Amino acid sequence: MKLTKQQREELKNKYDGYCAYCGCQLPERWNADHIIPIRRNQDGTCENPEMDVFENLNPSCPSCNIVKGSLPLEYFRKSIVGFVKSLNRDSTQYKLAKRYGLVTEEEKEVTFYFETL
Ligand SMILES: [Zn+2]
Repeated sequence: MKLTKQQREELKNKYDGYCAYCGCQLPERWNADHIIPIRRNQDGTCENPEMDVFENLNPSCPSCNIVKGSLPLEYFRKSIVGFVKSLNRDSTQYKLAKRYGLVTEEEKEVTFYFETL
């Protein structure tokens, strides 16, 4: 859905200007994320147009929006949990930073910002 300027302002203020997911202050270029993803057809129409509504939108920083993409919330959460495993498997810099005590890991649940309010 195309947001009006007023709707976009209202959405930005849904969580006082913070990303609904990570809780960072929304940068100038933030995204309107579909909480329940919509599925677009190749011609731009929507497979589940009932989800392409204002009530299904959250303000999101670009990083969260890119990672969430078209994932439902629980898959997005699992995806974030998997980052640490990926870093330990794939990133020499991360592994070294950890070994030198610059990074410490925590076993904790991923809680979205809007869930803490
Ligand atoms: Zn975010």
